[in-house]
Amino acid sequence: MTTQNWKTQTTAVHAGTLRSAFGETSEAIFLTQGFIYDTAEAAEARFKGEEPGFIYSRYANPTVDMFEKRMCALEGAEDARSTTSGMAAVAAALLCSLKAGDHVVAARALFGSCRWIIETLMPKYGIQSTLVDGTRTEEWEKAVRPNTRLFFLESPANPTLEIIDIKAVATLANSIGARLVVDNVFATPLFQKPLELGAHVVVYSATKHIDGQGRCLGGIVLSDKAWIDEHLHNYFRHTGPGMSPFNAWTLLKGLETLPIRVRQQTGSAGKIANFLAEKGAVARVIYPGRADHPQASIIRQQMTGGSTLICFDVKGGKKAAFSFQNALRIVRISNNMGDAKSLVTHPATTTHKNLSEEAREELGIGPGTLRLSVGLEDADDLMSDIENALGAAA
Ligand SMILES: *Cc1c(COP(=O)(O)O)cnc(C)c1O
Repeated sequence: MTTQNWKTQTTAVHAGTLRSAFGETSEAIFLTQGFIYDTAEAAEARFKGEEPGFIYSRYANPTVDMFEKRMCALEGAEDARSTTSGMAAVAAALLCSLKAGDHVVAARALFGSCRWIIETLMPKYGIQSTLVDGTRTEEWEKAVRPNTRLFFLESPANPTLEIIDIKAVATLANSIGARLVVDNVFATPLFQKPLELGAHVVVYSATKHIDGQGRCLGGIVLSDKAWIDEHLHNYFRHTGPGMSPFNAWTLLKGLETLPIRVRQQTGSAGKIANFLAEKGAVARVIYPGRADHPQASIIRQQMTGGSTLICFDVKGGKKAAFSFQNALRIVRISNNMGDAKSLVTHPATTTHKNLSEEAREELGIGPGTLRLSVGLEDADDLMSDIENALGAAA
């Protein structure tokens, strides 16, 4: 069955399905550690790679394979490996090909643990890095050294939803023979295709929109087959960050509804962003679907939709931000996002508390900054919840 001409929604439901002899409708969960061989000769042939088949679930598993194949079809990638969490995917994508003496350039607006890998872990193994304002292409250029091997960025970035010109950074990477790794979590596979824009590797935390219902963690690294064979394949087999079959099954179910969930949540987020922009208690709204987004022209070039997330500042700093969060009745306080349930985060005191105040300011995170992840509730209910809470904060 060819999946090449399928549109996104068909791909999200069917691609990669591997039906057993029972002909089950829903994907089976192959909750097994290993696999048996009919003969000693068959075992030998499988280990030599002369015969296809599974060997051990740390290497590959049929349920996990279905998830990887479906993600490859959605992303337009040749191959993938899925991991226990988004961070395991980021760590694998960065570490598998780097060595002591290499240099990495990364955008400074990164998920906190990604910054820890680059700023704290990699130097222990002799890998140096430079963090830049990723929205300024000339800063990437200036940071390049003779030993620069890898570029890393997240777009839209957490929590201020700043956008990086992926094509421009990919062009620079190609000109010096470096590879560009893009963390595409905020855009989802629906709204941005980094590989088509020239990126070499894409990573996801599947924990977010791909599950979308707050159940399990997961991650995935997607790229061309040659890079995976050369760098990721053995790293993955021998360090063992592989996804569990049960989580792969949950995430396959998540993919079936990803397009309708993300479109619905984005539609609500767009309405709520416009609603917030009208409110006197709100100092600023950043939303990748509004014409006043600082990088609106790049969004038009590289994204096909807005976001399920909104970043906004309430007037009155931390005190007002806390009163606002505490007064919400439907939207819940959580550092997570991409869920069916609407969630609000105060980055300065939670996800970004480890950064200095100066570093937070550079990223545009102030004491009144809030990140709202819009869920599947009725948008009108969410707006009245927000309206009441803004009243309490004022
Ligand atoms: C959540 C997140 C991660 C980490 O994913 P986990 O599944 O929590 O390990 C990495 N990058 C971004 C942009 C994220 O939002």
